[in-house]
Amino acid sequence: MLKSHVKFHSIAGKRLVLIVDDEIVNREMLRNIVQNDFDVVMAEDGEEAVEKIKEHGDLLSLILLDLNMPKMGGYDVIQWLKSSDDYVNIPVIVLTGDKHAEVDSLTMGAADFLTKDPLVPEVVLTRMQKTIELYEDRSIIQSTEREDLTGLFNKEYFYRYSEQFDTFHSELIMDAVFIDINHFHLINELYGRKAGDEVLIHLSDYLKDLREKTRCIAGRVEADKFFVYIEHGKVSYTTMAEEINSHFDDFRDIHVRVRCGIYQNVDKSFDIETRFDRAVQAANTIKGNYSKSIARYDNETFQKKMFEDRLITEMDEAMATHQFYLNFQPKYNVHGEEPVLASAEVLVRWDHPELGRISPGQFIPIFEHNGLIQKLDFYIWDRALECAGRWRKEHGIELPLSVNVSRMDLYNSSLIDFIIEKLIDYDISKKNLYLEITESAYMDDSAQLIEIINSLRAEGFKIEMDDFGTGYSSLNMLADVPVDVLKMDMRFVQNLNSSEKQETMIRLIMDIAKYLKMEVVAEGVEDKEQVDFLRSVGCDVIQGYYFSKPLAEKEFVEHVLQAQKK
Ligand code: C2E
Ligand code: CA
Ligand code: CA
Repeated sequence: MLKSHVKFHSIAGKRLVLIVDDEIVNREMLRNIVQNDFDVVMAEDGEEAVEKIKEHGDLLSLILLDLNMPKMGGYDVIQWLKSSDDYVNIPVIVLTGDKHAEVDSLTMGAADFLTKDPLVPEVVLTRMQKTIELYEDRSIIQSTEREDLTGLFNKEYFYRYSEQFDTFHSELIMDAVFIDINHFHLINELYGRKAGDEVLIHLSDYLKDLREKTRCIAGRVEADKFFVYIEHGKVSYTTMAEEINSHFDDFRDIHVRVRCGIYQNVDKSFDIETRFDRAVQAANTIKGNYSKSIARYDNETFQKKMFEDRLITEMDEAMATHQFYLNFQPKYNVHGEEPVLASAEVLVRWDHPELGRISPGQFIPIFEHNGLIQKLDFYIWDRALECAGRWRKEHGIELPLSVNVSRMDLYNSSLIDFIIEKLIDYDISKKNLYLEITESAYMDDSAQLIEIINSLRAEGFKIEMDDFGTGYSSLNMLADVPVDVLKMDMRFVQNLNSSEKQETMIRLIMDIAKYLKMEVVAEGVEDKEQVDFLRSVGCDVIQGYYFSKPLAEKEFVEHVLQAQKK
């Protein structure tokens, strides 16, 4: 609640007044006079008045106070008010028939007085209005609630007023709207600060005019960012965005465009900050997309974001408590009569204590997006090599493993040193570690990236281009890029049965690979027809459910031992 006692203004609907009189006739007369212009609470004596003030505190704009009352008189109420920290600024108009009392009450701190006999409605209302304006202006001057440039509320006061608005109008359905000016810094840079200021003022004026259409509160919360708390269903936001944008078209020839995020029908059980966070989140979904000016928050997006945030926050702990573990999927060489187990791909798994199994398809892109993948991959490679070392010692297994390497991993300067150190630690030969780098990593077209991949090859690691065919590799690029193996994207194989075009595509990939002297691995191979076709076109290695699903360590070791017996 507001310590400085600043009440909110007509923008947010009617003000609240407290009428205190022990005589029911007086109370009802006053109520009749003011109720069109004000919301009213009433008290029958001084004690009840104090209770009502405590209850409504900051929302009260004015108290109309009788002096002669049982229990606690009007003077005592004024005295109590003036000695309180929280309510000292609520103006009081004293109701009296006694000329002497007028002077006394003004001396004690009442703002004004009204003569009871007779009560003239126009006089009552005018005095009330004047007093309220006077006090509110004073409060505004004392506080820094409005910011200088636009006269809109600053963030803190915007939140406070919106909360007060809710207390007052709990029955209204409200929307939280966030408005951001695209490239505002460019406007400042290109046209100067003054032009930038004018744009802000222009937009603020538009928002102020909205108040004529509906109940709303507007604030400027950052340089070029605005919040509007607005009654639902009263304005069309598409129109609003269009109006703002076209508003600017005749404005100094500066091309100004806004981006609006809207959280409709806000859930009032969330605090006001959260509601506007949602509006901001919605707007962020169209950042950089200039064909769209508005975006609405939807709960699904939010749930997804919450889920992602949770995974990010919990990754470290998950690593420390071994929630991540490895699966291994065999790859078979299909050149000869009988398929021969040639290597295996290491695939990470996350067993979350509450969320259960989370698919790498879900968490890997999130960790790739924010860079956490480096930490996880280093951990996975370490675990994988440790397994390989152990299997050799315990079972004499010597099988190459391929690990997935994300684009971000390649920018880690300790990548090569780390891998080599681990190979030494677990006594594994370089030729037994393959690196699967997704095709899209090559799209970066960065000299640095190519250099790193080249040095990995120079060290003796086999490089597989993963998901080949999903990116945009041109033939030119393929010829220049350092790769040993093309790992054809699963979709080629999985669409095989459905169209002849896919057969042609696969043949084409085989031709390119042959020409560039690269090996081809097909993955996602699930049935015999696919195997037969792939063999017939000269595919070297096959991975997929047809041979084996990804296996937990124990099953995988058994699988390898079985395969080697044959
Ligand atoms: P990917 O590297 O293309 O891995 C192949 C995916 O296909 C794996 O999914 C595998 O379980 C699945 N798969 C294998 N055979 C078949 C089949 O016959 N049919 C079908 N429908 N699917 C098959 P998974 O394990 O869910 O991994 C998804 C992706 O997550 C991987 O795609 C890879 O990009 C990423 N990933 C997995 N583990 C790691 C890791 O340790 N590090 C990094 N950076 N990425 C990883
Ligand atoms: Ca892979
Ligand atoms: Ca793949």
